[in-house]
Amino acid sequence: MIDPFVAASPVLKKLEDAGFEAYFVGGSVRDFLLNREINDVDIATSATPNEVKRIFPKTVDIGIEHGTVLVLVNNGEYEITTFRTESEYQDYRRPKEVSFIRNLKEDLQRRDFTMNAIAMDRNRKLIDPFNGFSAIKERIIQTVGSPNDRFQEDALRMMRAVRFVSQLSFQIENETIQALTRLAHLLDNIAVERKRAEFEKLLIGKNKNNALKLLLDANIHSFLPDLKEQRQQLEKLIRFNSTNLNKNEMWSLLIYCLNLQQKEIELFLKEWRLALKDIREIQLVVHFLSKRLEQDWSIYDLYSAGRDHILSTEKLYQVINGNNEVESIEYWLKLYENLPIKERTEMNVTGNDVMTWFNKSGGPWLKETLLTIEENIIAGKLENDIEKIKEWLMKCNQK
Ligand code: ATP
Ligand code: MG
Repeated sequence: MIDPFVAASPVLKKLEDAGFEAYFVGGSVRDFLLNREINDVDIATSATPNEVKRIFPKTVDIGIEHGTVLVLVNNGEYEITTFRTESEYQDYRRPKEVSFIRNLKEDLQRRDFTMNAIAMDRNRKLIDPFNGFSAIKERIIQTVGSPNDRFQEDALRMMRAVRFVSQLSFQIENETIQALTRLAHLLDNIAVERKRAEFEKLLIGKNKNNALKLLLDANIHSFLPDLKEQRQQLEKLIRFNSTNLNKNEMWSLLIYCLNLQQKEIELFLKEWRLALKDIREIQLVVHFLSKRLEQDWSIYDLYSAGRDHILSTEKLYQVINGNNEVESIEYWLKLYENLPIKERTEMNVTGNDVMTWFNKSGGPWLKETLLTIEENIIAGKLENDIEKIKEWLMKCNQK
């Protein structure tokens, strides 16, 4: 893969050629210094959004009021954000207004943690006024300036600290931890969507169990949707080795620990503002999981669940049972792969066929008949062939 900083360098150069400063900043620089995989490179510049738009022919206004313009160039798209300060914080939330500035250091100063407040130029020279690189080397999460002030400006930063513990396996610096414990209640002021984004990153991080422990120690869970009274249930979650689970599987495991019924699952996930598509997926997996914990898969459940849900359910089943038997997962997936059909639409018979054979119009009987045919095909008792199906139906009808 081409180095993302090499690919993005012409963008910095273009800004510089037009007389502005431009740097790589934020998570990409941190991850580069940590030798971690880099997602998107973020760029900060002294050019104002309108100046950026004058320099690049193709741009999209994605957050122009915060100074961010998306620039489209042949090899990709880059978020370019104007140096800014955030002076007016209200109600412990991120500021209502930002002011654009020409000074890099001030821009770095408004960032949350020293590890996230490093800029890097085209030649990979670091501009690091807050000693972020040494924090990275020591694996320490420390606010830029007083943690008390910074958490009061924007309480979400407390959740960000904890999710970075999960993602990076860093330690939170002492004073920062103390502020976290003292100010956790300010998270009540933060929009659920922002908390969810951080919580989901926490849930899939390598060091999630330590991060969750910290979250409980600092009482942060009390200020997250529907988790206030759930200390014991969260402690149960921490005891699982859930390293390989994806986001929705982690939600499913959390729900398993919370012991929620199907109806409650929907309410819980709606409180967390999950998309309906994810809610449905999680509900299905939890449904199959609770069955699976009672007994082996039936052929019909394998068929209704489908490959992805079987896989998720099996992964969770193994996490809950504390084992890691790849063969067992493969066994169920193979049974699924060998099913004669995977979807209702693959049946070689239609409602019209059945109505013609019996010379009857539709009704509940038809639905029932089609379902019986489907079940028998899946069970391997009936071949998926229109003539065979007709013959079989006529015989059943005589009986
Ligand atoms: P990730 O790799 O998960 O994207 P990130 O550090 O890049 O982590 P982003 O949410 O993408 O996180 O934010 C980009 C940068 O913006 C951060 O590195 C940090 O410098 C700054 N930042 C983000 N959120 C805040 C905040 N609430 N307060 C101050 N600075 C922030
Ligand atoms: Mg980022």
